[in-house]
Amino acid sequence: MKVFSQKVLIAAAIDKLKAKQLTVGLVPTMGALHHGHLALVKKALNENDTVVVSIFVNPTQFDNNDDLVKYPRTLEGDVALLKTVSENKILVYAPTVDDIYEGHTISNKFDFDGLEFEMEGKFRTGHFDGVGTVVKRFFDIVKPHRAYFGEKDFQQLAIIKKLVEKHHIPVKIIGCPIHREANGLAMSSRNTRLKPEYKKAAPFIYKTLKTAKEKFGTKSANKITEWVEKEFAKHDLLKLEYFIIADTKTLKPVKRKSNQKAYRAFIAVYADDIRLIDNIALN
Ligand code: AMP
Repeated sequence: MKVFSQKVLIAAAIDKLKAKQLTVGLVPTMGALHHGHLALVKKALNENDTVVVSIFVNPTQFDNNDDLVKYPRTLEGDVALLKTVSENKILVYAPTVDDIYEGHTISNKFDFDGLEFEMEGKFRTGHFDGVGTVVKRFFDIVKPHRAYFGEKDFQQLAIIKKLVEKHHIPVKIIGCPIHREANGLAMSSRNTRLKPEYKKAAPFIYKTLKTAKEKFGTKSANKITEWVEKEFAKHDLLKLEYFIIADTKTLKPVKRKSNQKAYRAFIAVYADDIRLIDNIALN
């Protein structure tokens, strides 16, 4: 499997493939790959001749330096896992910070029509400017026909669609469903850092989301939010950062439910110093 660390080299390799009319899919990741990532890669392999998997822990999307420093980095294991799905159709792009930022590790500023001010944007300052900056650079380097993003980061998926629309980037954005452990916990690279007691507690997050979904048929968003807040207040290990029921288009918290709109519940929780997010479709 070819592993590139320089944009000029991967861009040249991609140019050669495109000259042969081959299609290119891109799966951007921060590495420490798990089966959730692999599902995106498999879908991309089904729909494209070649798949570029980028592995890059992007410093500008972290507002917490400790989280950035402790983020798992496992390139060798990642490449081994990717080899289990294809030896020769995947190119790995694992750049250095300098290859992407050329000495200026700062974000560009983006206007995502307000999507960036909700939820993750409120609680992680500058996060979506960092995401927009790095994903736009990956699009410029790889120029993929299609790019794959997980609904695990539903707000990020919405923001990338907005980025592509506003900047007229010729790529099709494809969303993929959330992959979970057998106990319901959404797969995440950060799960590997959970101490055993927190790992055992963490499925409570999805269990709560499922009950919130059941309640959505008969209860108001406010009542459900109060219930979730009480459930977490009683919990010894997990600390709720936010629970919000939002319109999937605007990502704004719902005030009065409408049958015409689609809603999702979004949650962010601290398990010790590890921040976990999840979400669920409600209707
Ligand atoms: P990350 O490495 O966490 O930045 O994730 C890279 C891509 O994989 C993003 O588009 C994520 O939304 C997606 N992803 C991460 N975890 C999951 C999961 N459990 N299920 C589906 N997609 C995921």
